Amino acid sequence: MQPFAYTRATTASEAVKALAAAGAGARFLAGGTTLYDLMKLNVERPVSIIDVNALTELSHVDTSGPNELVFGALARMSDVAADTRLIRDYPALSESLWRAASQQLRNMASVGGNLLQRTRCAYFRGGEPFACNKRKPGSGCAAQEGLDRGHALLGGSESCIAVYPGDWAIALVAFDAAVDVLGPKGERTIPLEHLHREPGTSPEVETVLEPGELILRIRVPVTSVGRGSTFHKIRDRESYAFALASAAAAVQLEGDTVRYARIAIGGLATRPWRAREAERSLMGKTLTAETARAAGDAALHGARAGRDNGFRIELGARTVADALMIAKERASR
Ligand code: SF4
Repeated sequence: MQPFAYTRATTASEAVKALAAAGAGARFLAGGTTLYDLMKLNVERPVSIIDVNALTELSHVDTSGPNELVFGALARMSDVAADTRLIRDYPALSESLWRAASQQLRNMASVGGNLLQRTRCAYFRGGEPFACNKRKPGSGCAAQEGLDRGHALLGGSESCIAVYPGDWAIALVAFDAAVDVLGPKGERTIPLEHLHREPGTSPEVETVLEPGELILRIRVPVTSVGRGSTFHKIRDRESYAFALASAAAAVQLEGDTVRYARIAIGGLATRPWRAREAERSLMGKTLTAETARAAGDAALHGARAGRDNGFRIELGARTVADALMIAKERASR
């Protein structure tokens, strides 16, 4: 057990100041479902923990506004997933939360912390003797020559091919969400599509958050496209596993013709992946099994298979196609 200092903050600005004062090696604690897990694996070794759970200002959820849905970063996954407006008007957002984890985890985990969960790459989690650039920069990447069945087909680099593991961020990216963050330099807003980085040559840097920045809230623009939406997730086992492939899809139709389409894919890329080419391929077309499948192929355009993960290109295209047909059925009600 590595000793650490513990501070309980009562406001967001107090939390940010406490983290800055604690220096490098300090971490915010929200639900703890990722942080404690990674501490047990010695991936995270914080010298100081700033507990933000008393920040009631960050627990607020408001899905009734005319312009945007607002989710305080500390809102629990289970509470947001059960929001009646979300279930009715944005089923993809609700489904991405309740399909993500067991009830116990959803009760604890925060929607802000969920965005920052780290990869499930076994070499990253296992540590020595395996090389991992994300865990120890410059050490190499064991997955490149090792077991890559679950690794990324899109957005990888020579340095890292780890998949972004979350579901919630995939659905949020499809709906043009943004996050407000507070740091030592003040508050700013980051489009969620730009929050996560591709690994490039520095896979240990996973987001564009600057040191000491705290996610305050997630905001989603109100859109009528949400009603015809779904989060479709394919896993090795039916219940509570990470995605082999997932797709958040939303469509708005005029008759059978696609007026708007939103598609993002998960479990396949190093970051939440908006599939704009796939969206464009559907505009003005009749949504059929064939056009949905063509959109699936477009979503996986540029995918690069390693040794054992090539089957997930076909799986990903089918997942997108299936999601679109579910979204169509909902949009037609
Ligand atoms: Fe580490 Fe990334 Fe390679 Fe996995 S894929 S071993 S996380 S560098």
